Amino acid sequence: MTTYPDTPLLIDGVWRGGAEGRAIAVVDPATGEAIGKVAHATRVDLDAALEAVDRGFGVWSAVSAYERSKIMRRAADLLRQRADTIATIMTREQGKPVAEAKGEVMAAADIIDWFAEESRRTYGQIIPARAPGVTQMAIKLPVGPVAAFTPWNFPINQVVRKLSAALAAGCSIIVKAPQETPASPAELIRAFVDAGVPAGVVNLVYGVPAEISEYLIAHPVIRKISFTGSTPVGKQLAALASQHMKLSTMELGGHAPAIIFDDADIDNAVKVLAASKFRNAGQVCVAPTRFLVQEGVYDRVLTAFTRAAETIKVGNGLDAGTQMGPLANERRIPALEALIRDAVDHGADLRTGGRRIGNTGYFFAPTVLSNVPRHARIMNEEPFGPVAVFAPFSTRDEAIAEANRLPFGLASYAFTRSSETAHQLGLRIQAGMTTINHNGLALPEVPFGGIKDSGYGTEGGSEAINAYLTTKFVSHMAA
Ligand code: NAD
Repeated sequence: MTTYPDTPLLIDGVWRGGAEGRAIAVVDPATGEAIGKVAHATRVDLDAALEAVDRGFGVWSAVSAYERSKIMRRAADLLRQRADTIATIMTREQGKPVAEAKGEVMAAADIIDWFAEESRRTYGQIIPARAPGVTQMAIKLPVGPVAAFTPWNFPINQVVRKLSAALAAGCSIIVKAPQETPASPAELIRAFVDAGVPAGVVNLVYGVPAEISEYLIAHPVIRKISFTGSTPVGKQLAALASQHMKLSTMELGGHAPAIIFDDADIDNAVKVLAASKFRNAGQVCVAPTRFLVQEGVYDRVLTAFTRAAETIKVGNGLDAGTQMGPLANERRIPALEALIRDAVDHGADLRTGGRRIGNTGYFFAPTVLSNVPRHARIMNEEPFGPVAVFAPFSTRDEAIAEANRLPFGLASYAFTRSSETAHQLGLRIQAGMTTINHNGLALPEVPFGGIKDSGYGTEGGSEAINAYLTTKFVSHMAA
């Protein structure tokens, strides 16, 4: 089996420990045992990273888009070649089944390829001038050094969207990757280093999240920040960024409605939604959470979905046949138990699950709650775990009102055979993304992002690179 590596920092092209020699233990969520260490950056390391990223910006922004694109595509190929090894490392630190981990690595390679292509299309404009001899140009320039903060649920994919867009635009970057799942994002970054990204262009640090973000966001070298994580932390970081006039992208929490109408293909709806709900043990910002089902099919959907939840094979992600691994960290167990207890206290029926499995590792049973009243916490707070919450509705307007009731607006799902209903949902659900009759979210070429308390900016599609570019106007009169 692949041995689990200790993870160093990457500063100015050198893989090394923290200046003060501090390191944090990494725990396997399937066993609860420490499997390795990750270096911990302190102020001295951050200053070194800032100096490197500043110099790296000068180097990388002068590399042609054509050359940047070639290096990025080489990194994507290296990642594909190394996918099996990296997937095993990811499963050991994060818990997800190894097939899912490999899927994440391969998807990351596709995202790198997409942004590598985009880097050659950062077109500006020539604007017709009023006077003869004048050329008016709007040109796109990289915004400057970036600081990116990413969470543990998709250790590679959360980094790769920010890293690829930044590099494609000509920016340098400091990535603060998750200290809980450090080794797989380090392998992603190693692929870029091995592909030929010059020293200082990509830097990688770990440590105390608040200490690192407060220092980097306020620092004058950093021109742009991108954060993925919870809404409360995102609001703090966005406030700090605006105080220092830094551009920011915020990918925050969600509470996705999944609306199933009487006229839907029920078997398809249950199959698609069960796969989407329990992928990565539900620790997915776009996971379907509030299952709003029209009264005529409510019992049928609930019964079929509960059966699907009960047949999921939960186990160590390294074992063949495992469909759902453990939760990624221990603190999610009491968080989920409290939400489920509160729902039951408010009158919800616990149809299946609702508890931890065993005492070794952080396994949690796929859970279905029905008839959950609106004032229960779980109807308002993101569970971020393998819990589906069912409530019936009678009319389309009622379903849309419930979908839009929360301050979140990230993903939304619907199942209907009516093109009129599909059209109405596409326009009226307040969310960054709506997917109807299938799960079509998160491809490299489509927008990915939220509205309202779920944040702002897109990390996919043709607009994503714009977050790392500024528009400069140049007016030139022939001398
Ligand atoms: P948390 O809010 O403590 O941390 C969430 C993420 O933000 C972590 O990666 C953490 O390292 C980072 N973070 C926290 N404080 C920070 C700071 N001051 N500066 C920079 N980064 C900071 O919660 P948690 O227990 O790790 O995760 C639970 C909640 O986080 C979930 O309920 C979910 O809402 C949210 N979350 C969302 C995503 C996502 O994909 N949007 C991913 C992971 C966690």
